Amino acid sequence: MKTCWKCGEDKELEAFWKRKSNADGLDNFCATCKLETRREQSQTPQGLYETKSRIITAYNKQFWFPNYDQYTYQVDHKFSIRKGYQVGISLDVINNKNNLQLLTIYDNRKKGRKCSINIDQLHTTYQNCSRHTRLCEIVRDITDINILEVMRLKITERIDAEKSQIEL
Ligand SMILES: [Zn+2]
Repeated sequence: MKTCWKCGEDKELEAFWKRKSNADGLDNFCATCKLETRREQSQTPQGLYETKSRIITAYNKQFWFPNYDQYTYQVDHKFSIRKGYQVGISLDVINNKNNLQLLTIYDNRKKGRKCSINIDQLHTTYQNCSRHTRLCEIVRDITDINILEVMRLKITERIDAEKSQIEL
């Protein structure tokens, strides 16, 4: 059993999403509260931008950083998502492959929300991406707040499309 930090209820461990950077490997909010929090956050333009960025990165990192040790490393945005929103960077650019790097959990916490590159360097990382790694089309059309469901459908579609290509 674990106590949720938001609703304060004791719940079975299965009620919590995994979070490898926590000592017990589980999120501090139960899944119900986590989803509720994300929905609330997604109702502001900044929250929507940050949520979309998390989804894009979660989707792409399985291809861009396959099999990395999630107990040691996290995927970091060199030019931070928060700053990206503040200065009006498009989702394609902020989430491009060359703006991402693996940092140890320790180094990533130390970096916090700071940027390790400037805006010109960010645009250079994007220009250096191949066409394939620029695409963030899976989330470009998401505008409503029910992001997680849309993400699930989009990823399923993408996996089906990749399967059918393999069959050809
Ligand atoms: Zn809860």
